Amino acid sequence: MPEYAIDTHAHLRSDYDPHVFEKIQEDGIIRQLWMLAHECHVETPTYHPATTAQVLESARLFPGLILPFGYINWRKGAEQIEKLKEQGCFGLKAIRPIYDYNDLRYFPIYEAAEKLDMPILFHTGIIARRRREELTDPELCTGPDKMRPSFIDSIAAAFPQLKLIHGHMGVPWCNELFESLWYYTNVRASVSGLIDWKWLIENLDCRTETGVPFHQKMMFSTDSYYGGDNLEYTYRKINFTREFFDRVGMTYCWGNAKEDFMHGNAERFLLEKL
Ligand SMILES: [Zn+2]
Repeated sequence: MPEYAIDTHAHLRSDYDPHVFEKIQEDGIIRQLWMLAHECHVETPTYHPATTAQVLESARLFPGLILPFGYINWRKGAEQIEKLKEQGCFGLKAIRPIYDYNDLRYFPIYEAAEKLDMPILFHTGIIARRRREELTDPELCTGPDKMRPSFIDSIAAAFPQLKLIHGHMGVPWCNELFESLWYYTNVRASVSGLIDWKWLIENLDCRTETGVPFHQKMMFSTDSYYGGDNLEYTYRKINFTREFFDRVGMTYCWGNAKEDFMHGNAERFLLEKL
């Protein structure tokens, strides 16, 4: 199997340099970026998160390389999902809800996403520290408690045709991630951020209720901001993960699943009919 990566949790700088993506295409190390719009944080002189419109623009410039995920605005209802689909969004990004992710008030959003076949990547667990004035809406949550991994489960059960992705590992609730991956066939994890390597080592060899190895339920990601001068650092994350599979994984069955983890699981999840 050829060696390359799909980054299933990527961000874009609003002031991105398109040459970076030309270089990524030339290098061939990353073949696809699931580019998540981020509209919950206020832009600062050193922090430039791209909006849905900018993510869509980058996807038009680099079709195939960039898969656009639109930002869910928790103040808006299901109609925003239809609009995002029309505009060209492939999937959706959920982060910093006002109420718990599984609050019934949000179910029309999930129902629309299921109908339109749009996967949703949910930020779960630990989140960047921000004061309320640093958020685009002061009622957005400032801590991880409204984004517990187990909240994804009630959505997974209610909408079995909806593809759901845990962004990160839900630290400090990795036991909830375990149960979520074990029980729900429409749930995957995109592993980045604060990675609990010990948990990963102990659980990649586990299996789900239906016998699917956990290493087929998890996908590589970096959570990097693309479009600036940090590409080498992102490549280091890819190299480290490959080394992790080669060296730590050599005494576990999951060590053979390196290419699945790096890109195969993501490719299959997109094609899967639930
Ligand atoms: Zn992120």
